[in-house]
Amino acid sequence: MKAARLHEYGKALVLEDVPVPDIKPDEVLVQVKACGMCRSDAQLVDGYFRPYNDIPTPITVGHEMAGLVHAIGSGVAKATRLEEGDHVVVAPGWGDGTCRHCQIGNTHICPNVRWPGFGPYGGFAEFVPVPARYLVKADRRLKFEELAPLTDAGMTPYRGIKKLRDAGSLGPNRVLGVFGIGGLGGYAVQYARLLGGGATVVAFARNDDKLAVAREYGVDHAINISGKSSADIAKELRNATGQGDLDAIIDCAGAAAMVQLGFSLLSISGHYVDVGLVGDRIDVPLLPRVNREQTFQGSYWGNNTDLSEVVALAAQGRIRHTIEVIAFDQLNEYLDLMRAGEIVGRAVMTF
Ligand SMILES: [Zn+2]
Repeated sequence: MKAARLHEYGKALVLEDVPVPDIKPDEVLVQVKACGMCRSDAQLVDGYFRPYNDIPTPITVGHEMAGLVHAIGSGVAKATRLEEGDHVVVAPGWGDGTCRHCQIGNTHICPNVRWPGFGPYGGFAEFVPVPARYLVKADRRLKFEELAPLTDAGMTPYRGIKKLRDAGSLGPNRVLGVFGIGGLGGYAVQYARLLGGGATVVAFARNDDKLAVAREYGVDHAINISGKSSADIAKELRNATGQGDLDAIIDCAGAAAMVQLGFSLLSISGHYVDVGLVGDRIDVPLLPRVNREQTFQGSYWGNNTDLSEVVALAAQGRIRHTIEVIAFDQLNEYLDLMRAGEIVGRAVMTF
């Protein structure tokens, strides 16, 4: 089968032919039809994660997968009702199934989690072995290239905004800021509408083309922050919404300067959820966090429940997609475009 593999950190992926993987009794062999490209793919190649987890090479990159059930392991329970030819998406955080996080369904934050695309097998390959319990069946009418990004770009901000909702920071008299309108932000602005309970939604980004996507998806206001001071941005926010601060933030960038901007705009009792990982450090004044009783919360990817919910929203036609379909042999070219921040929406490789 074709596979795009990282053999040496910092070098281009090697596009090569490798054997089709075997499956264990509890696994399903998925024929990959589409795999989205994530910023973290470029970060993996560039070594961003090595201080945290130095994954041995070769690594088959790609974790946003949709495809077909090709073969089913002998031990897979009949109760899964999986059949060859089923359309499926892959929930990517594979836990050990035994810890307290796994026991309540949060397998993606299991201390022994495994991730496809960060080891021997991944989605930029024609076949991938997947434990059966991490497959979610999808409506056959949905396109693979639209399903694939739901497993990360289309799920991660969904989980993040659920945290804002559960914290009580959304509602008709609240202003929600969406920071960064890249692969994740294009979905975040839609979930801000679906889960926001009537909150005013404001998009913040540096790129007018990306802000145009946010406008198309129904944000109330879009603010280009490029070259502006936080005081100027607060003034623009006040002119647009009647208040110069944000009750809630979903940060889909996580860039150092944007995090500082976000905290400078966060209201009393504001709730800041970060899902973005462009930067690696935050440096913000402490006192306003304490005497304004603010909350910063990380939100990481999503679990089977989150994925099942976004797949259901997609089946209801309530999610719009900004997708650029690319070919297997364009992967390295698009990793470069990803590094340069020049992809609007999500690049998705299809076989
Ligand atoms: Zn676990």
